[in-house]
Amino acid sequence: MSAPVVGSTATAPGHPGAARYGPRPVENPALGEAFAQAPGCTPEQLDGVIDDAARAFPGWAATPLDARRERLLACHRALLAAVEPVAGLLTREQGKPLRHARAEVRLAADWFAHTARLELAPERLVEEPAARVGLERVPHGVVAAIAPSNYPVLLAVCKIAPALLAGNTVVHKPSPDTPMSSLMMGRILSEALPAGTFAVVDGGAELGARLTVHPAVRLVSFTGSVDAGRAIARQAAADLKRVVLELGGNDPAVVLPGTDVASVARDLFAGAMTNSGQFCAAVKRVYAPRTEHRQLADALAEMARSAVMGDGLDPATEYGPLVSRAQLERVAGMVDEAVAGGARVLAGGRVLDRAGHFYPPTVVTGLAPGSRLEVEEQFGPVIPVIPYDDDPEQVIARANTSPYGLGCSLWGDEGRALVLAGRPACGTVWINTHGALRHDVPFGGHRHSGIGVEYGAWGLREYTQLKVHHIALRQADREMS
Ligand code: NAD
Repeated sequence: MSAPVVGSTATAPGHPGAARYGPRPVENPALGEAFAQAPGCTPEQLDGVIDDAARAFPGWAATPLDARRERLLACHRALLAAVEPVAGLLTREQGKPLRHARAEVRLAADWFAHTARLELAPERLVEEPAARVGLERVPHGVVAAIAPSNYPVLLAVCKIAPALLAGNTVVHKPSPDTPMSSLMMGRILSEALPAGTFAVVDGGAELGARLTVHPAVRLVSFTGSVDAGRAIARQAAADLKRVVLELGGNDPAVVLPGTDVASVARDLFAGAMTNSGQFCAAVKRVYAPRTEHRQLADALAEMARSAVMGDGLDPATEYGPLVSRAQLERVAGMVDEAVAGGARVLAGGRVLDRAGHFYPPTVVTGLAPGSRLEVEEQFGPVIPVIPYDDDPEQVIARANTSPYGLGCSLWGDEGRALVLAGRPACGTVWINTHGALRHDVPFGGHRHSGIGVEYGAWGLREYTQLKVHHIALRQADREMS
């Protein structure tokens, strides 16, 4: 069996490639110090891994679907048996509370089982005396699966499982901020999969770019920021590779007039603070009727003040740090800029004076129009509460001016919300909830939030291409049938 997890200590210190491709420390964001060494994958090793995946592809694609299902179920069992060690690494490198890390790894294991049950049956399109036309879904070849740092284990499996079921082979590159849990997962899954069908390579954007331009890679399935998605679309274009891009979001939550704001505040807070705000489909801005917006902001600020932040290994912790110093500086910079423009911070609003990358749950009002905190994705634990005067259609139109289009939620009377549900320009509209995702419901963004969808039968189809079989029936065949 070829090594599924590729790293190298071969790059000599001082070599020009050392900084980009060599081994490097991985930080614990709760402590702001290194806790592990990631191996790094050299360009030559990457090429070798992709070649292995390309060689394994015909055999895996020809493996009966039921046998591939069995392999996915074996992955499910293997990952389920390793929840504790994988979750421990996940908390150390990402910062999330350990119970959330365990839940993520369990969900990832279950994703293999859910995916194993999906159908890829051929279809009969035409059945006529002179012709029979059928349709089958065939794999692309080698799939590059590139994942972000916020839910590294789950979001990788959301790609790996359907890609493998469809008959592709997969090379997975985790975020350089959170590689250790994925590298361990790679070793675990390799025991359940045939050689060459799956590998994990460790490195940053340069390695990712090299992966996306390799001629053997036919589909790039990417989850991450809009900027990186744009770069990947450009990289893939030269060779007309297929792309699935699940990108950033700046989801609005619109509280409808007449809603009891006290009754929705807790759910809005949870929708914004999940994973310390590092969730693509978190509530990133709240629009509330002017008459009630202050009451809502005060209720959210009260919750922000009582939230428990800390090291994810401490069982009392509700919210962990941001994943990196760069992310901390981005969030702090956007809040500081809003304050300089006249905004008011009701809770939080300052980097915590302690080791690690801690930014407290923060509630902001009085944003100047066009503030970056309203129009850009902050990806942190910050809730801007923005008042509106007139009818909610107008405020939805205002929210739609953001180029993002991942999700939107409407809060209040269900009938009124249903009438408005066609207005938000995004992939998912939630009513009286936000960010609820399921394995059997498609998820994807409109406009800058992405291309294509993931999850369920719809997501599985992205890992296939259509192949038509058109049979002209001869007279003799017709007489026989
Ligand atoms: P990121 O874009 O910085 O990195 C994601 C991955 O892309 C990493 O593995 C990185 O090394 C790689 N990468 C970067 N540039 C590349 C290039 N040119 N070629 C190939 N690979 C490259 O994102 P992040 O900070 O890890 O994650 C946060 C972002 O992800 C947020 O914008 C968030 O909204 C988004 N996200 C979207 C979804 C979704 O389903 N739509 C889910 C989770 C996160």
